[in-house]
Amino acid sequence: MARIASIMVDRDNAVSRSGLGCVMGSKKLKAVAVHGSKPIRLHNKYKFYELAVAAHKKMLSHRFAGDVIRYGTTILVDLMNKIARYPTRNFQSGYFEKYEKLSAEVLRERYRVGEVACFGCPYHCKKRHMVRSGKYACDGGHGLEYETLDAYGGRIGNDDIEAIIYANQLTNRLGMDTDNVGGVIGFMTELFEKGIIDEKFTGGIKFRWGDPELLVKMIRMIAYKEGIGKLLAEGTHRVAQKIGGEALKYDMTVKGVDIPAQDGRAQKSMGLSHAVANRGADHLTSAEFLSEVGWPDAIIERFDNLAKKIYGRSIMPEGADRLDPKFKPLMVVESENFAAVADSLVVCKFSTHWPPALYYPDIAKALTYATGISFNEEDVRRIGERIYILERCYNLREGYSSRDDRLPERFLKEPAPAGPCKGHVVELDEMLREYYRLRGYDENGYPSYEKLKSLDLLEAAKELNITQ
Ligand code: SF4
Repeated sequence: MARIASIMVDRDNAVSRSGLGCVMGSKKLKAVAVHGSKPIRLHNKYKFYELAVAAHKKMLSHRFAGDVIRYGTTILVDLMNKIARYPTRNFQSGYFEKYEKLSAEVLRERYRVGEVACFGCPYHCKKRHMVRSGKYACDGGHGLEYETLDAYGGRIGNDDIEAIIYANQLTNRLGMDTDNVGGVIGFMTELFEKGIIDEKFTGGIKFRWGDPELLVKMIRMIAYKEGIGKLLAEGTHRVAQKIGGEALKYDMTVKGVDIPAQDGRAQKSMGLSHAVANRGADHLTSAEFLSEVGWPDAIIERFDNLAKKIYGRSIMPEGADRLDPKFKPLMVVESENFAAVADSLVVCKFSTHWPPALYYPDIAKALTYATGISFNEEDVRRIGERIYILERCYNLREGYSSRDDRLPERFLKEPAPAGPCKGHVVELDEMLREYYRLRGYDENGYPSYEKLKSLDLLEAAKELNITQ
């Protein structure tokens, strides 16, 4: 069983990060099938329906709605290359010189055959891409997303779009995480390029940038644990640990999880998010979008009320500058808490984060109408914080601490080589200090007794021996 296995949902959707498919497999749990037979009863279905209609209107009126509907996440290939945040050749750069071959418009014009939407969603972000003929002919499943367009594109220096569509579907069929598969291939290729490993080590395989045939071959070898694939199925971090020495410098993981398709040097809040995310390097545990796509004025105003209580001033204009580390810890905390709410409600990151059309007041009203229990903005904020801190406590109990809230050396010491962020590194220590202060953590990354008490989490305090 590959450690980088996903839990597959409806054939083409993957719960991918952190090897959860492997956890299921290790427990000999093959599948979970769910079938509902009773209606969903809402406390006030008329008010709830009115709110849903208003939410749809808000979502559709956001200035980024058109792009989401037209391209889904594939639009990010173009946008992220412009700001050099698109990881290229194992994060050596954030700019891929051949990105236009993988662009949203190419996919839309040549390969898009339809769309797939979750129930009731007006964004229908999933675009089906098919390769009609040639050696990579395939129906493409639910199609490509931005993450895979980087993992199998820029991150391994590959500009063959048909190979990416094919490899994406193959990886889904074999039940693995494309971010981790692309990550480990990119890592091996850099080691090969730098002469740290050779063909003797890889069993005769030459790892080269931009080799689509190698990509497809390695996916199969990893899934079936053939040859060098057996080692790579352990994931980048374990491979790096096994090789040791110079290889450790190029291990682009956090808490053992491959960093996804964002170069934190081009967006400082993303660098911090990757370092502190509870499930390892992640772009969805905190999706700080003020400095990525901007927030509507109404949300900035609400958030600023909170910021003013802490700093006595507005977070603007620095908050919206993705290269300025100022205020990013506060925005990451805000985003982590809100994402925890969205995740536990099973609400999509589209609409709550990208674009940020819905915010705490909308969620509080929805919960009230659905359950009949009165919620306000503060209640929901507290729930988000409580979830996030409880997850942190779980990690601490399992042995994680501040020493794991780190980034690879490359992001801290190697200045970004291209684009508007040229010359930048991630100012992690500076942001981390402020992040810990805002979270109520001590220098070891443990939440204080007072913080846990305020969130009604004294049981966790007891388990972690955190006292007054
Ligand atoms: S709910 Fe989210 S993932 Fe599903 S179609 Fe809508 S935008 Fe896409």
